[in-house]
Amino acid sequence: MHDFQYKNDELYCEDIPVSAIADSVGTPFYLYSHNTLLNHFKVFDSAFSSVEHLVCFSVKANSNIAVLKTFINQGGGVDIVSGGELFRALMAGANPEKIVYSGVGKRVDEIEFALQTDILMFNIESTQELKVIDSVAGKLGNRARISFRINPDIDPKTHPYISTGLKKNKFGINIKKSLEEYRHARGFKHIDIVGVDCHIGSQITGVEPFVDALKRIKELVVELQKEGININYLDLGGGLGITYDQETPPHPNIYAQAIIKEVSDLNCVLILEPGRVIVGNAGILVTKALYTKKSEEKNFVIVDAGMNDLSRPALYGSFQGIQPVKLIKRKEFVADLVGPICESGDFLAKDRKMPQFERGDLVAVMSTGAYGFTMSSNYNSRPRIPEVMAAGDEFYIIREREEYDDLIRGENIPEFLKRDCSNS
Ligand SMILES: *Cc1c(COP(=O)(O)O)cnc(C)c1O
Repeated sequence: MHDFQYKNDELYCEDIPVSAIADSVGTPFYLYSHNTLLNHFKVFDSAFSSVEHLVCFSVKANSNIAVLKTFINQGGGVDIVSGGELFRALMAGANPEKIVYSGVGKRVDEIEFALQTDILMFNIESTQELKVIDSVAGKLGNRARISFRINPDIDPKTHPYISTGLKKNKFGINIKKSLEEYRHARGFKHIDIVGVDCHIGSQITGVEPFVDALKRIKELVVELQKEGININYLDLGGGLGITYDQETPPHPNIYAQAIIKEVSDLNCVLILEPGRVIVGNAGILVTKALYTKKSEEKNFVIVDAGMNDLSRPALYGSFQGIQPVKLIKRKEFVADLVGPICESGDFLAKDRKMPQFERGDLVAVMSTGAYGFTMSSNYNSRPRIPEVMAAGDEFYIIREREEYDDLIRGENIPEFLKRDCSNS
């Protein structure tokens, strides 16, 4: 359930008509419901209340500091994948004891930053990374708490680009080699082994892949404990899917029950890294129809948001619901909703039945709270669009629309080029 509903033929976010926000901030913009964010977090967190656990929101799904703060206020932790995300998390007030650091390519400066922050743990993805973290910790006179990200070779049955737990993926350490890897890690001076981690993919719509992965990980934990390697944390990553179209993912309670059943005898703190399931349906992208046109074969609605603002359709061919902001009596047609970018991949919806939008109509692109703004870019020199948070009958601009000056910030024309202008 979310807080984007029609009242009097108008789409509302909580108690505010979306069109009123559009009048005030202009289009396009991302709009998040604070109440939906909060509810989703609470539902997820309380689903695990019967076991010791920590919900570390995956910052890459939505990294706005007001969004992060919403979860941090509830006692949530964060899962980061870069120094930049660590900076954001700290700016939002994250507790270092609740920060886990994932990712295959951690740089030395990022490792230093995380060690100085004294985060809860590094999820390590390779033998070389282990060595580097040990040596950086040694140099800083510090110790690093670590877990290995295990690749359990499970097919999560999702889009290949967002499936991460198969042998052929770049992520994690092959489960067959993992015991060896842990034994090896025991010899490092500045490393404290504290956990086991896995993350098998994203937009997973059944519990089976999670349970299958967990069963394999569990065997490993038992073996490690037998060897006296202490495992305090079992990090199961994120990946629970949402409804974009007709998908029927399990409710967090069902997901949690299946997991809790497997882990209750392990004596570990459970860590979860949900992203999409918390924020995906808590946000929409509001855009405006600029033009309509008809070719021999197709109808097009050209809107003012493009693949630089929302890249999921172009990147994964993903489905995003398309809804009118005002329910005007319009016939329906089958059309492509496309952006202004000079790429044929620049579409938000393809061959979709939708109202016959006209120039000036506001269009809501649904379920865009996750991997929406965070994947946006300045391609075609388009300033990035604002993020707005609605709460009750108030709304707040939580990120300003970029201006043209922002586009060239940091760019310089070298002196020799400036001198060169009369040279013909
Ligand atoms: C992306 C990611 C997540 C979050 O995935 P969702 O599908 O959004 O829940 C969690 N953990 C890691 C390591 C990730 O890379």
